[in-house]
Amino acid sequence: MSVAMATLIPEERMPENVEQWWARRQRSKSTAIPYPVGQFRSDWERYPVLVRQYHPEFNHGITLTQVPPAADVYLLWQCDVGHLFVATPEEQRSRPGGSRRRSTWCPDCATTAVNRPAPACSYAGAPAKRRPDAPRAPQRASAPAMAPALAPVPAPVPAPYACGHPRDPDRVEKDPADDRCYLCRRLDSSPLTRQQLETMVVARSRVELSNETSTSSSYSWECPRGHGVFAAKIERVLAGKRCPTCAHARVAADGVAVGESFVSPWAPKPASAAEADLRQRLRDALLIPLDHNAVRVARPFFTHVEVWPDFVMPEFRVAIEYDTTGRDGLEHVGRREDIDRRKDRLLRAAGWEVIRIRCGKLQPLGLHDLQASGVTNSLVTRIVDELAQIRGELIVRSYLA
Ligand SMILES: [Zn+2]
Ligand SMILES: [Zn+2]
Ligand SMILES: [Zn+2]
Repeated sequence: MSVAMATLIPEERMPENVEQWWARRQRSKSTAIPYPVGQFRSDWERYPVLVRQYHPEFNHGITLTQVPPAADVYLLWQCDVGHLFVATPEEQRSRPGGSRRRSTWCPDCATTAVNRPAPACSYAGAPAKRRPDAPRAPQRASAPAMAPALAPVPAPVPAPYACGHPRDPDRVEKDPADDRCYLCRRLDSSPLTRQQLETMVVARSRVELSNETSTSSSYSWECPRGHGVFAAKIERVLAGKRCPTCAHARVAADGVAVGESFVSPWAPKPASAAEADLRQRLRDALLIPLDHNAVRVARPFFTHVEVWPDFVMPEFRVAIEYDTTGRDGLEHVGRREDIDRRKDRLLRAAGWEVIRIRCGKLQPLGLHDLQASGVTNSLVTRIVDELAQIRGELIVRSYLA
């Protein structure tokens, strides 16, 4: 404290209330903010209990990191039970138990303890009642202990974090000197801002996300490329998770124009013996390679912008599917039939035609579908005829083996 200030202070000086103290520091330092936020962070971070008990909105909006540890000022604190009480920084920091104890002194809690034979307080100078010049507690909270508090009052709604987001009273922060919510602090180490995060979430969740304080909740996020929405926890998005369709497309499909075929690492390996048999017979009949396994489509099919027909013939822009109901009789029926139709629509929209070989009881879906009982040479002849129907006799004949 400067010499000039010392002359203004009476010999038996009393701590000031926080508004008086702040105004005096503003005058003496000739600045609106005599102590910037964070200046005394390192002094306070050793006292997590005190950090938890302190709320700027009870103290003229001043954060604890703006209060010098030696300031002679009455601050308003809130104990873990919810009682409000007044104490100077020095009184608070000299409490027995220091930073580690969870239960700390507060007049209401201490008065309750007076009824017991053991002394309530073991340190000197603990004020057991309200000071006359101390700031009044907000009306809705319990008055600081003029009378024994026999029953604990219900805890008031906890004050929001310094960032303005609603406080989670159950959360114990690792860095108590930083009184922001976990999400705000987590964003420090993320390339994303809260604003960017809010533009990524679906519109209906924007308000909810703006009040979010943790990263563990799951939200629906919208792909900026129009692939639709995907669900993910905030933490996953901060860690870099984006639209799964975009992620899949990056591997190959992004480099392929809509309507072009290619070899995709995502396509499943052909599994059935009948399919392998048909592949060999088609190779014997037509001089075309059958090495492509994917066609780039315009809109997502599940989480891909590609589809994987059983046989891909880029020369004809024709895809051939070999459909059986499978061992359990469930393939390509019911809801799966709708999926097949969707896949065909995507192919046709990309300039392709589809021939489905429909085995067993499966009925044709499209104009060019062929019903069959299995893989035979006559089936191959019917496929070649169908190809000629689609792309013209001359063109198909030029590829005949
Ligand atoms: Zn208390
Ligand atoms: Zn926050
Ligand atoms: Zn996407």
